[in-house]
Amino acid sequence: MGKPSLVFSGYQYRILGENSKFVSWVCVKSGNCKGKLKTNVQYEIHSKADRSCVPNLAAVEVKVKLDNCRKRAREDVSVPVGAVCEEDPAFTRKGMAW
Ligand SMILES: [Zn+2]
Repeated sequence: MGKPSLVFSGYQYRILGENSKFVSWVCVKSGNCKGKLKTNVQYEIHSKADRSCVPNLAAVEVKVKLDNCRKRAREDVSVPVGAVCEEDPAFTRKGMAW
């Protein structure tokens, strides 16, 4: 298992350090982003610092939709993958290529 990561408001954070009370997190894009979070040990948000990167929420959503749609395509063999996924307007809008 790798280090734990936390997704908050579409931003992904990796663990920086922890003590008995708090866990510190930094944005996974910390090279050019100042995003930080502090949570308690139950991973409830305690404080957060502004981040400067773009949220990856869209990417996360697309991945979830992609998984769902592939699953549907697998379960319903009478419908080609492309047809199943084209039913979802999100795919059309984002111009997903198949
Ligand atoms: Zn960031």
